[in-house]
Amino acid sequence: MSKRILILGAGVCGLATAHRLLKSDPSLKVTLLEQEDRPGGLARSLTVKGQVSDLGPHRIFTELPDVKRFLQDLAGDQMETVKRSSKMWLRGRWIEYPPRIPEVLECLGLLNVGMAGVGWGLRKIAKALPGMPPEADSFEALMKDAFGPGLYDLLVGPYAKKVWKVPPSEIHGDIARVRVSAGGLDQVIKKLIGVERKDQITAVKEFFYLPGGVESLVHKLRSEVEDLGGEIQLVKEVRGIKEFRTGHLQVTAVNKQSGREEVHQAEQVVSTIPLDHLLGMLEDKKTDKTIVAARKELRYISNFLVCFVIDRPNVTSSQWLYFPGGDTIFNRGYEPKNFHPSMGTTNQAMMVLEVTAHPGDKYSQMSDRQLLNACFKGAVRTNLFHRDEVVGTLVHRIPYTYPLYDLKYRERLDRIWRWLEQYPNLLSAGRQGLFLHNNMDHSIHMGFRAAERLLGDSQNPAAAFYSEVRRFQSFRIVD
Ligand SMILES: Cc1cc2nc3c(=O)[nH]c(=O)nc-3n(C[C@H](O)[C@H](O)[C@H](O)COP(=O)(O)OP(=O)(O)OC[C@H]3O[C@@H](n4cnc5c(N)ncnc54)[C@H](O)[C@@H]3O)c2cc1C
Repeated sequence: MSKRILILGAGVCGLATAHRLLKSDPSLKVTLLEQEDRPGGLARSLTVKGQVSDLGPHRIFTELPDVKRFLQDLAGDQMETVKRSSKMWLRGRWIEYPPRIPEVLECLGLLNVGMAGVGWGLRKIAKALPGMPPEADSFEALMKDAFGPGLYDLLVGPYAKKVWKVPPSEIHGDIARVRVSAGGLDQVIKKLIGVERKDQITAVKEFFYLPGGVESLVHKLRSEVEDLGGEIQLVKEVRGIKEFRTGHLQVTAVNKQSGREEVHQAEQVVSTIPLDHLLGMLEDKKTDKTIVAARKELRYISNFLVCFVIDRPNVTSSQWLYFPGGDTIFNRGYEPKNFHPSMGTTNQAMMVLEVTAHPGDKYSQMSDRQLLNACFKGAVRTNLFHRDEVVGTLVHRIPYTYPLYDLKYRERLDRIWRWLEQYPNLLSAGRQGLFLHNNMDHSIHMGFRAAERLLGDSQNPAAAFYSEVRRFQSFRIVD
């Protein structure tokens, strides 16, 4: 009998795991269970009146050699190089993003920027003094080190608060650390005087994009997995998992169309569904209380995509738009047609505005109409479009978008990985499965590593896989 492996979730991590498993051993029986009616997870798209958008624009960029090769083989010459172009709405005007020094000076005022520079220097000196108490490893502390308290209070702090909707002093420094654009004032100065190190990329200027957006990449991945013999079962929501004494695993799923419950057996399972769901399924009365508490403290932020189809060929000339101020409820916007013309029609374009929310907060409680009205007001205020130009709208809510790293998230996750090691043939991987703020290439790489661990000769593939989590946590996110 060939070995059966189940993969829970058919996002890029689940698909990459299946691909690597089947490529290495075609005799395996690999089945993916996906709750949605198509694969892709976060790497999917939506369509409104002929305008297509990724669920948050997905540029293709990687520093991981194995993923680079894989993507080149998968998409090859269809990948197109796109020049990045972003703008920021700051104090009532549009400026380039990442900001250029003259524009920042004009917007924030020479005095404010001068004071910010002095504050940055003073903080550096103060921190070097002996006997200074250590600060918590927070986003706020890290960004104040990088930009100084002045610029932090003017720009960086308010934007972070707007996105994460918690004080940045309560967010872990890792969120800033993994972002490539988190280079500080010293890097900006080095850039100005031309001594920036070539290998220290602070933001990408070019990236790859596929005609039709990220879902066309997923289509290719899906067909390769199916050609290799993998089975993708859609509208199957995983509801339960248990391990037998023999080490075999049993997964219960519900067919969302028929409502029927199904039972699947396997020797090994890779789960890419949200970690808190997986832990909830494994918990029983004997589960350590600290694990139950740790699960409840895993928090994810939702992202609401508020889409407006506009009756003119283009809304702006930019791809991403950033809104750090309090004059809009959205923090970011984007125009899919500016990533690739295949994303829209000739005469119309779409603007997608992003609103982040915590489950149950005032944004989550807003109806679609209220979100559309509030975003529309912000769009008018920032000169994006007018009422008579709007010919179509849609609100798309994504509940599991960003894992929220609070100050204790590392210890909490370490405890969870140790606990999960008792299930040697169950690996939790991917963005949701490892509670990782990551990019697609990282999820693909993790899928490969999960497959390699299952194919290897370790007695406990799960423990071997979790030993790599620190490395996954330090992958850089490119802005
Ligand atoms: C707004 C935004 C912009 C981004 N931009 C970029 C970018 O420019 N470039 C880039 O490389 N990356 C980007 N990313 C990151 C990228 O989307 C993710 O890293 C990647 O898609 C995660 O893949 P995954 O398979 O690990 O997780 P997911 O895509 O979340 O896949 C998990 C899958 O599990 C399924 N599932 C969940 N629960 C169950 C259940 N109970 N039963 C069955 N199935 C279930 C889900 O439906 C989903 O399909 C962006 C992400 C966001 C949110």
